[in-house]
Amino acid sequence: MNKRWTIDKIKEFVENNSDSKLLTTEYHGFSQKLLFECACGTHFEKTFTKFKNNHQRKCAVCQPPKVSR
Ligand SMILES: [Zn+2]
Repeated sequence: MNKRWTIDKIKEFVENNSDSKLLTTEYHGFSQKLLFECACGTHFEKTFTKFKNNHQRKCAVCQPPKVSR
């Protein structure tokens, strides 16, 4: 069963599972980039899939992308 996310559910998830805030007010689907505000005040864009499944819940400053060497 596919869980249907609404903007309210996403907002709740973001508030309960991260220090970031959700700024986007409309949700159109998993491929949509949502706008977040990090706890440091930086705005960043990410799909909800990445935010939730890849644990990318902060901006690139607070949580730099992993560098593979
Ligand atoms: Zn940050």
